[in-house]
Amino acid sequence: MPEFDVERGFDKSTENQQICPGAPSLRRPGCKFDRMGNDGGSNHFRVGETVALRYITRNGKPGMSWPFRVVSDTEDLVALHIPAGATYARWGRSLSPPLQRASLEPKTWRREILRLMYPGRNHSIWLFWAEEEGEREFSAYYVNFEEPFRRTPIGFDTNDHTLDIVVTPTLSWRWKDEPEFEERVRQGIYTPELARMIRKEARTVVEAIERCEAPFSDGWEKWQPDPTWEVPVLPEGWDSAPAMQWEDRVKAYGDARG
Ligand SMILES: [Mg+2]
Repeated sequence: MPEFDVERGFDKSTENQQICPGAPSLRRPGCKFDRMGNDGGSNHFRVGETVALRYITRNGKPGMSWPFRVVSDTEDLVALHIPAGATYARWGRSLSPPLQRASLEPKTWRREILRLMYPGRNHSIWLFWAEEEGEREFSAYYVNFEEPFRRTPIGFDTNDHTLDIVVTPTLSWRWKDEPEFEERVRQGIYTPELARMIRKEARTVVEAIERCEAPFSDGWEKWQPDPTWEVPVLPEGWDSAPAMQWEDRVKAYGDARG
């Protein structure tokens, strides 16, 4: 079985500086955005609706959760937006005895993100914007490897797989948290099968970055939220609605729990 690092490896020095001078969709305004919106499917969310994006723990409970507004919900793409200032739920640092389970606590989200999610895929692609001297400025793409999302009555369930790729606006990229990912594979928290799955997925995303392909060529960095949208709030039931677990979880995690 060839390793992922056949050519690039997980070498943090591996970066590729490039831009997309001929990004086709930038010459065809709206080519992607005109597909936004509800495709009419009854299981899909409406544009502007607030949903809960939840990370589901190994024992099938809702973990970290964020409120997002639906930007697009179609058969091949779910796009979700969270502004800075939204309240999300994250694990608190437990000051109690070590064996006591940490609890979820409300925290303020600090960075505006558009989260592009693809049905059946093991990653999502995030776009970050930052406020620079009062101006909203696109600052980075981020490839987050994660479980393929599942739909719930209140939103979407997934879970993080540690490895990420940080991509600059000019499509220079680098791995993030690769040692932590490798350590989890060594410890058996992730099975070799999951590791292969993620590396294979990573290879396809890196190819898309290096070839300036979708979604990096789609003009999403110019997207702007509806100015009438208020800061979203986690919908009722985010912490109690039954989790939709990943069908491949046993293959991916073995018997590990955590
Ligand atoms: Mg991640």
